[in-house]
Amino acid sequence: KNAIEVRGVRKVFGTGENQVAALDTVSVSIRENEFFTLLGPSGCGKTTLLRLIAGFDFPTAGEILLHGQDIAPLPPFKRPVNTVFQSYALFPHMTVAQNIGFGLEMLGKSKGEIEARVAQMLRLVKMEALKARRTSQISGGQQQRVALARALAPQPKVLLLDEPLSALDYKLRKEMQIELKRLQNETGITFIFVTHDQEEALTMSDRIAVMSAGKILQVGAPRDIYDRPAERFVADFIGETNFLQGTVVAKKPGLATVKFASNATITAGYPEGFDPSGEVTLVVRPEHADLVPDPAKGTIAGMLSNIVYFGTDTHYHVKLDGGENFIVRHQNSRSSPVTYERGAKVGIQFEEDAARVLKD
Ligand code: ADP
Ligand code: MG
Repeated sequence: KNAIEVRGVRKVFGTGENQVAALDTVSVSIRENEFFTLLGPSGCGKTTLLRLIAGFDFPTAGEILLHGQDIAPLPPFKRPVNTVFQSYALFPHMTVAQNIGFGLEMLGKSKGEIEARVAQMLRLVKMEALKARRTSQISGGQQQRVALARALAPQPKVLLLDEPLSALDYKLRKEMQIELKRLQNETGITFIFVTHDQEEALTMSDRIAVMSAGKILQVGAPRDIYDRPAERFVADFIGETNFLQGTVVAKKPGLATVKFASNATITAGYPEGFDPSGEVTLVVRPEHADLVPDPAKGTIAGMLSNIVYFGTDTHYHVKLDGGENFIVRHQNSRSSPVTYERGAKVGIQFEEDAARVLKD
């Protein structure tokens, strides 16, 4: 079942020459109990979409349904939706417990009900010990927990989270990622999470919508998006990718054979709805390719131009004979079988299904 359906939503700001289409006809369905992420670079329209769902602003065109019902007539406070902002927006002069109970008080809940719910929320975010502290006297990570508890207290059906972790330092951010996943699991509330951090999106989400310039380019599970990007932008924005330019020389259903400057040919799959012909781009993830010591038949020949050690893995930069740059990533083990030297002649190879043909 769908929690939220966004149907043909457009949002235009400004008039005349200053018009900006912050959302350029977006449609997406978000399921109940899902951890759904909007991922895209700054300015692509993520916050705008959240604001429309929350009711802080209205679409120029299109509609938004919540459990099948058009929510346009509902003001923000009547929507079963709550938002956690990047800036937390806590009341510094109030205690942790007062902050968590604030929304419930606004809703006119009884004193007993508020106390019980606040106690429950304090347990959920593990802040019982600090309930009487003012929020100006707790750390950033603790403030984040209070902001979450406050947003969850009125039991919204959908929680909107606008880059809630971006103000935290790396280690705390990693901790809070796990914490957020746990909260979503335990409460069963639909989370719509916004981030520009692809790693965060991959590790946390049930599904991801990749956005660029007011459009949703692809929606899918993290593995789908990573292994089967639908567009060059998606492949480039998520993870590291090798791009090779080539020409289609043969085609059969679902597979295209592409010829490159290095005179090699590769046969690979392509996204549904794309009809490869002429100039195309081939994408290959660095960890899906292998380096072989001798440029043998079935490999693409090149020269090892650089070796970069990362601890867990090593990046081998290969200058292909056709002039392209290609990176191969090997996981390091205690017994790496081959050692390579810079300047060596090498070959690269990868399975057919590791490569993908996309629009040039
Ligand atoms: P994101 O959250 O992905 O960084 P936003 O949704 O904030 O992106 O913004 C999308 C686009 O809409 C940007 O070009 C931004 O400048 C523009 N925009 C957002 N809000 C307004 C506004 N209130 N008035 C004018 N332009 C806006
Ligand atoms: Mg934003």
